Amino acid sequence: HMDGDISVPTYQETEHISNAFNLLHNQMMNMDSSRQDFVANVSHELKTPITSVKVLADSLLAQQDVPAELYREFLEDIAEEIEREDKIINDLLALVKMDKSAAELNITSVNMNELAEIILKRMRPIARKRDIELLLVSTREVTAEIDEVKMSLILTNLIENAIKYNREHGKVTVTLDADHQYFTITVEDTGIGIPEESLNRIYDRFYRVDKSHSREIGGTGLGLAITKNAVQLHRGSIKVESTFGEGTRFLVKIPLTHSLL
Ligand code: ADP
Repeated sequence: HMDGDISVPTYQETEHISNAFNLLHNQMMNMDSSRQDFVANVSHELKTPITSVKVLADSLLAQQDVPAELYREFLEDIAEEIEREDKIINDLLALVKMDKSAAELNITSVNMNELAEIILKRMRPIARKRDIELLLVSTREVTAEIDEVKMSLILTNLIENAIKYNREHGKVTVTLDADHQYFTITVEDTGIGIPEESLNRIYDRFYRVDKSHSREIGGTGLGLAITKNAVQLHRGSIKVESTFGEGTRFLVKIPLTHSLL
């Protein structure tokens, strides 16, 4: 969105931010490597929107008599970057919460049919915006002993992705089923699919198949990491099948009753 005649400050001016991250980097030397990777990724992801905000704000401050429209345009960009930062922080907090022990689960008896209805209702406006059909198929009544908040996160993340990575006028089908031991949720879409070589990386924190595309549509790369953690806390499993260019199906399987260790 940079206009040609606006003087953009150099990245040197964001040096104090870099210094803070260098400090963090030094502290990281004492951590194990997967933790180091995580903190490095967090730093990078958090730094990007801040750097943009800094550049945008400085550009405005460096100009005399900025035209109102341009001022507005820059402010809108700043607001967008702050919104993104907020999203990343929220996802990080969700992930950190999920990292704690299974004792953190708040187990109640939940009607899964009702919960799925509620989540689908919440997702409808986003689906409608892209003219995507959102369908719930439940073959039976399912009541499960689960953490309702974490289960909502699982459903929300999978359905949100199925909408985000779909094509225009596509379809998302959510299926709820159960046997005597487990209930299953499948979320199937008619979207862009996931390339074979990416299938085993999509649960990694901050991993995105297409960084620029994902950023454009507001992805943080944390959604599936949160989802997988939430499933594992319930001692369930998550699987994915995908045909690149045709669609993706996520399958979540979780015990109906929660037995303590
Ligand atoms: P993001 O915030 O980027 O959506 P996620 O952790 O939820 O992060 O997903 C990781 C990556 O997996 C996404 O960036 C996307 O490339 C891919 N992905 C997830 N769900 C789907 C899907 N239903 N269809 C195609 N690609 C998907």
